Amino acid sequence: MTFKDLGIIDPILRAIGDEGYTQPTPIQEQSIPILLKRKDLLGCAQTGTGKTAAFAIPILQHLYADKHNGQGRRKIKALVVTPTRELAIQISESFTTYGKYTGIRNTVIFGGVKQGAQTATLQQGVDILVATPGRLLDLMDQGYISLKDVQYSVLDEADRMLDMGFIHDIKKIIARLPRERQSLFFSATMPPDIVRLSQQILGNPEKVSVKPEQTTAEKVDQSIYFVSKKGKPKLLVHLLENQQYDSTLVFSRTKYGADKIVKMLSKASIQSEAIHGNKSQNARQRALGNFKSGRSRVLVATDIAARGIDIDDLSLVVNYDLPNIPETYVHRIGRTGRAAASGVALSFCDAEEQAFLKDIQKLIGQKINVVEEHPFVDFGLEETVSSSISSHNGGSGARHNSYRQQGRDSSRPPQNGRSGQRNNRQRNRS
Ligand code: AMP
Repeated sequence: MTFKDLGIIDPILRAIGDEGYTQPTPIQEQSIPILLKRKDLLGCAQTGTGKTAAFAIPILQHLYADKHNGQGRRKIKALVVTPTRELAIQISESFTTYGKYTGIRNTVIFGGVKQGAQTATLQQGVDILVATPGRLLDLMDQGYISLKDVQYSVLDEADRMLDMGFIHDIKKIIARLPRERQSLFFSATMPPDIVRLSQQILGNPEKVSVKPEQTTAEKVDQSIYFVSKKGKPKLLVHLLENQQYDSTLVFSRTKYGADKIVKMLSKASIQSEAIHGNKSQNARQRALGNFKSGRSRVLVATDIAARGIDIDDLSLVVNYDLPNIPETYVHRIGRTGRAAASGVALSFCDAEEQAFLKDIQKLIGQKINVVEEHPFVDFGLEETVSSSISSHNGGSGARHNSYRQQGRDSSRPPQNGRSGQRNNRQRNRS
């Protein structure tokens, strides 16, 4: 199957040819024919699957076909709402890339920056608007944006949108859209609240689902390091100093934690930058730019800031903290091992994170390889987790839980003593 077989018009074929795309990805192959028929779509797919082109190409194609109908200033005919600024920028760039020979114009708006440049572009007229929910509502309320001409609407990363508390904003935006339109709804997961929301938005949608989880998880070379909370900084420095990875994305559960990691690495003379919600938009873009261009080797990010960030040739993902939502682990490791490349994901697991590890292994349906030999190994932890994993199918998990209790309650949990001895041995040797 080629893009030409899907009925894509020449100006867009040329643009995707320039990008080096030879074949549609599964989500594109399934969605494009549905969307070209102007049907509503419910897509279960995450970033990294080629989802953006799956919706951007048909929208551009429709707008190109309708182009001669419009006169005067361009009106917003397609609206894409997405949860984060980074995603919004990437989607806008994709429209620009795929639409470069179509004359269709798009722009992007997001919060956290002054609105002047955004409103100036809007006033010149655009065909496609990519927006985060808050800024969109704000500029609508100020009268800079009217949605009355929108014929194509996309709600992207709906599950993340709900996680981030955007449900009311989304409902307000949807209420302002014309009833007659083509609606697209994408979400990486489909829990009941997302299904309910999709039913409120979509007419009688066609459904497509691509499940990159398993394939991603299988493609990425994953390992786990059992390490105490205190041992994590040393282990990270050790790994970054001793392994030859060109670009490393380190995940931290919290913004504060991300900043702490950057400071800690800096003390070890390892240059890194952090991106998270407390950083200004400019700082985030700068950090991302430095990382993408190879000027900085290590980027430290929180899940929300990193979600959907598209970095080619990312060689290593480090889960400094294990996420409590197992799907997040899959999203994180999916940042590496894109397309044909295989990647490496290393995860640190401390006493309190064992339950998370158990859930992750259940979701991906595989046991993650344990790195037994490292200077900061936490033997007590490893034994306990291994036993809880081997008993997890049908096992009671009682031992695992009781260990967590022990780890939290005891001022000197058994594993600390042993790893301490090992650390000393390591230090004496070096
Ligand atoms: P997305 O899921 O939209 O974030 O896309 C992930 C990555 O896949 C982006 O870097 C796209 O440029 C790339 N991509 C999208 N479609 C294709 C394709 N058909 N062939 C090769 N790469 C693609």
